[in-house]
Formats: sequence, structure tokens, C-alpha cells
Amino acid sequence: MNQGKGAATPAGSAEPVRLHNTMSRRLEPLRPLRAGEVGIYTCGPTVYDAPHIGNLRTFLFEDVLRRSLHLLGYRVTQVMNLTDVEDKIIDGAHRAGQSIAEFTAPHVDEFFADLAALGIEPAEHYPRATEHIDGMIELIEALIEQGYAYTAEGGVFFRIDRFERYGRLSGIDLSQVVRGERVADDEYGKDDVRDFVLWKSAKPGEPSWPSPWGDGRPGWHIECSAMSRHFLGETFDIHCGGVDNIFPHHENEIAQSECAHQAPFVRHWLHSEHLMVDGEKMSKSKGNMYRLADLRQRGASLRALRYLFLSVHYRRKINFTDASLDAAGSALRRLDELRFRLEHVAGGGPDSTADGDAGGEEARQSDDRADATGFQEVLDALRRDFRAALADDLNLSAGLAALFRFVKETNRRLEAGLETRQAAAALAALAEVDRVLGVLDPEAWLEPTQSAAAWLGDAEIEALVERRDAARAERDWTEADRLRDELSAAGVVLEDTPGGTLWRRS
Ligand code: AMP
Ligand code: ZN
Repeated sequence: MNQGKGAATPAGSAEPVRLHNTMSRRLEPLRPLRAGEVGIYTCGPTVYDAPHIGNLRTFLFEDVLRRSLHLLGYRVTQVMNLTDVEDKIIDGAHRAGQSIAEFTAPHVDEFFADLAALGIEPAEHYPRATEHIDGMIELIEALIEQGYAYTAEGGVFFRIDRFERYGRLSGIDLSQVVRGERVADDEYGKDDVRDFVLWKSAKPGEPSWPSPWGDGRPGWHIECSAMSRHFLGETFDIHCGGVDNIFPHHENEIAQSECAHQAPFVRHWLHSEHLMVDGEKMSKSKGNMYRLADLRQRGASLRALRYLFLSVHYRRKINFTDASLDAAGSALRRLDELRFRLEHVAGGGPDSTADGDAGGEEARQSDDRADATGFQEVLDALRRDFRAALADDLNLSAGLAALFRFVKETNRRLEAGLETRQAAAALAALAEVDRVLGVLDPEAWLEPTQSAAAWLGDAEIEALVERRDAARAERDWTEADRLRDELSAAGVVLEDTPGGTLWRRS
């Protein structure tokens, strides 16, 4: 039953999964190119600023996807690019008199810190656009050679007319886009307003790269075509992003890659819906955004934010409110309480039926009692229903419903007396579910910045541990949990053992 963290699963035993494909607008079975292995490309951040929590919702969806595929037995190679060449970056670096690397470095750090703060597992590769300029130039050359691209004043452009399938992903009707519409002033050389830029000529003084078409920089779309090819090949399994990436970004990636390679680009397109505030998409330009730093300042729990994002299906919008964050916090408290009670029993605390005065005989009886009422079935149901929910287009709402059925049933059985090894099995089942949720392991949620701020001396720690022991003896789980959280925020890890509570600094 217990799969344990990081347990290796042979590639051949991967379970079938259905995922919505934006291209077909239907649920389709995932059919990886290589059995049991999935290559995923996820459009990453443009590193000119810290991400807002809308961006982070998309990155968290991609984390849920990779964790779910792992749990279901797949090997995953995820590539997330960092867009470190882009107009705003060029402008910003130019104005600050910095190189691109100097200008983007703090934002790259913020990005990785935010991923870690939300428990997002690292991807296998984080290529930067600036490291792949050669690959982009190669692709553009291939497009020019085959007549899909042309040079003009301002740079090199993709000729949309040449790609019949353009618009299939988004369903956009290009004939409705009016020719002769106003064109960005640095793209005035293009033949058709609908064509998009592959290489932009540099203006004097701007950071630039040499190319067969003069000094300049790549367009945004070609970056992803080049980096996905480098790591995953011309054709790969899954491409993700937020819904705003569908048009024009992903549409343009398809056009570039399929025309350059004369091969299919992506087998399965997944897009997550937006995080909204008061009915509007959260975005930097609208000024309606929060960053993690803002939430921290307001004392919000980032663990609750992770839970809130998980709990809404990725193809549904989330309206971000304080109330939604509070509700997520309450759900987490129920899970923490159960984990705490189970740890207490599994660790052989005073109310463990297998411990102390209860004696072996009584323990065996209670074991029989619980087995007779089918605790194994409760464990199996969680495992089965949770996995089935994930395999059905990452339906975490159904997965969480299964989890809370398990919480209810296990709490009921704890009242009646649960055997030590059953409590251990229940904890293992929770740990398995948490391989996807990533919200339950208390050690994963220690916040290093807080521990520095709230440093406690040994005597203070011992006093808090004693108060917690007293609360546990009185079965005041809420107070005991609160004290555990307080200690954990100060970087103190507790371990409940039959001989008492041990503590150490993390
Ligand atoms: P950007 O840094 O603007 O390129 O965005 C990075 C990722 O965040 C992209 O995949 C976007 O689709 C996604 N994104 C931007 N705004 C939101 C939002 N309000 N909700 C969810 N995802 C978003
Ligand atoms: Zn992209």
C-alpha cells in the first residue's frame, strides 16, 4: 500500500490518463511517444519583475501535472524556459545601464524563491533564451530557406499566409483580422499586418546579438520553438501554459516549428485558466495583482494559497478573495488535525491502544475490531479514488472529496480506537496523497525567513514543548497543533516518540 516518497515505478506500469487537449477541445488519452515517459514544455516567466500570484497559479498547475504523472507511474522531463530577452527587458536593461544578465538576475532569484515558497517541484531544465540564440537563428534560417519567412525593414517576419493550419489551436479566423491595421512602429516593414516577428533589428545602443540579418534579438515566440526542440525534440508530448498563451504565442510556436521541421509539434496541449480579482484577470498591466511578498506581509499562509489553487480545477477560473484563502486554511487545519492524531497513535502516545497499560491482548482485540469494520477498505478507497480523479483530467476536486471522506471515516475510527499499525498505514496513505498535494508535510513548510526572525533559545523551546505535551495529555489538539506550528515557524522540528517529545533545530 505504501508507495513511499520517491519510490521508483517501472516505466511499463504507468496508469492510463485522460487529459483535455486544447487542440481537439476534447478529453483524450495521453499517448506518450515513449511508453511511460512524458516530455513537457511549459512557458516560463518573463524575468523583468517578480511573478504575481496569477503567474504562480499557472506554474502550480504544471507542478500538479508533473506530480500526478509521477504518482501514476510516468517518468517526466519538464522544461520551463526563462524569457530573458524581450522588449521590456531590453528597455529596462538599457535604461538602467545594465547588461541583460545584471538586469534579470534579481528577478530570476525571486522567481525561484517563489516556486520554492509554494512547494513547486523543480523542473528538469530551466533554459534561458539568451543561452539558445544560435538555435533560434538556425530555425529562422530554415524558415527563410523554405519560404515561410522573409526579411524586411525591422527584421525577419513569418509569413502567416503560407501556413494553412494557422489558427487551429485558438479557433481564430484570420480573415477577420483587418489588413492594414496599425502596426507596431518597429515592425512597419512587414508585408501583412498578421505576420509576426522572428528577429528584431536592434536600435542603436540596445543589447543585441549578431545574425545573418544584422544585429538584433529574437522575437518571443521563436524562443520557445528553439528551446523545446533542443530539450524535447521536434515532436513532444505535452505543452502547457495559461490560456492567454493560446493566441498568439502558441499558435505562432506551432507555425514556426511545424514549418521548419515539417513534423508535428505537440501531441497534447494543456492550458490553465486565469486567476481573477473582482472579475478581471490578474495582470501586471491592470495593477490588480498581488505578489507572494504582499501576501506574506498580510500574514497570509502560503500553504493555504497552494491548497486554494489546487482545489479548483485547472480549467476553471479562480476568483481570489480573503474568504477563499480562509476556507483553504480551514480545510488544511482538518487535515493537520488528523495527521497529528494519527502521529500520536502511530508514535505510541498515551492514547495509543497498543501501548502502555493497554497491553498486547487489548491491542490485538482493538486491531480485530478495526479490521472487522474494514479499515483496509477505507485506505484502499482513498488510494483508488484519488488516483482515478487524477487520471481523469487532473480532477483534484474529486480527489479532495475522496480525501475528506477518508478524513471523516478515519476520525470516526480514531474515536473507536485505531491500532498503531493502522494509524501508520493511514499516515502512509496521507503521505502518498501528499506526493501530489504537497501541503501536508510540516517540514516542507518551514519558512527560513521566519525562523531567523523568530529565533528561540533552548529554554524557550523546551517550555513550548512542555506546554504542547500538556495540551496533548488533555487532548487539546487545537492548542497542541498551534504550539507545533509556532515551534515549526521558529525552525524547530518535533518528533513524538513513545519516550516523549524530541526536538531539534532544522
Ligand atoms: P508572463 O511572465 O507574463 O509571460 O506569464 C507567465 C505565465 O503566467 C504564462 O503562462 C501566463 O499564461 C500566466 N499568467 C499570466 N497571468 C495569469 C493569471 N492572471 N492567471 C493565471 N495565469 C496567468
Ligand atoms: Zn512559450
